[in-house]
Amino acid sequence: MPARRIIGVDLGGTKLLAGAVDPSLGVHYRVQRAVTGLPQRALLDMAVDAVTEARASAGAEVTAVGFGLPAVIDVRTGNVVVGAHTPLADLAFADVMVERLGLPVFVDNDGNNAALAEHRAGAARGATDAIMLTLGTGIAGGLILGGRLYRGARGGAGELGHMEIDYDGAPDADNCPGRGCAEMFVSGRALAREADRLAAQRPDSGLARAVGEGRTLAGPLVTELAHDGDPAAIEAVELIGTRLGVVITSLVNIFNPEVVVVGGGMIAAGELLLAPARAVVAERTFPFLSEGLRILPARFGVEAGMIGAAALAYEGMAALEEAAP
Ligand SMILES: [Zn+2]
Repeated sequence: MPARRIIGVDLGGTKLLAGAVDPSLGVHYRVQRAVTGLPQRALLDMAVDAVTEARASAGAEVTAVGFGLPAVIDVRTGNVVVGAHTPLADLAFADVMVERLGLPVFVDNDGNNAALAEHRAGAARGATDAIMLTLGTGIAGGLILGGRLYRGARGGAGELGHMEIDYDGAPDADNCPGRGCAEMFVSGRALAREADRLAAQRPDSGLARAVGEGRTLAGPLVTELAHDGDPAAIEAVELIGTRLGVVITSLVNIFNPEVVVVGGGMIAAGELLLAPARAVVAERTFPFLSEGLRILPARFGVEAGMIGAAALAYEGMAALEEAAP
């Protein structure tokens, strides 16, 4: 069989990652673009441009394109229903991209794609029941149940970041009508908030020194300071890890998975984040559910969504070929 590629695109709230991906989910060419603040038309132009570049450098025939968006997608149509961090709400995204790219296009939620990548070739490979949490600015989620990606009645399942964990909590942002959602407590945004609080309380800490130098305590900086051994930064990361354990505890009680995979930008904190999460899960779940449970970092890191978008398109193409007479 001749070599072929699919272009996987993860179109996030701050950046776009595109890659030419082979059928074994190896990445052969990568494109990265900043997309923060782009209006819809410029965002679509940039996506087309990135796919065109990846296609030209793919080194083999490109047969389809897969997209992941930080949005609820109606998977029957490829239409965006509501976009949390992206100006694509109510857009017939798949139709627009088919017309502009001249290739078959498959679209799903970014969290679902990340789960697919980790299940097909990553940390959850071989598991029948697995849960993926992608911790970035917010939380994206994906559920593999019975070996298949679980999408629910209309394609909106797996919004694990909007699991409400504070019944009387503050309103969520980003078009979510919920209150006290998990991503308000466990996310890059939450880490930055806790770091700001600790910096103010501990003027002698590394966090406070960074603020004094005019730096913003965003997730990657706090993580770096924690790895460097600053006790205040470690405390901030461990606090988020403890809360992550609470979220995972609920998911374990509901789904009884074999493996929970944690990815996204925040997994750069590694064991500083996962060790407290595991401790909470061990303490708070029924031993029958937690025995043998694995809580693992994502294999594909920040590329999980991009690779999963390609996996989505490979599986979509295979289904089309099977259905063809
Ligand atoms: Zn929410």
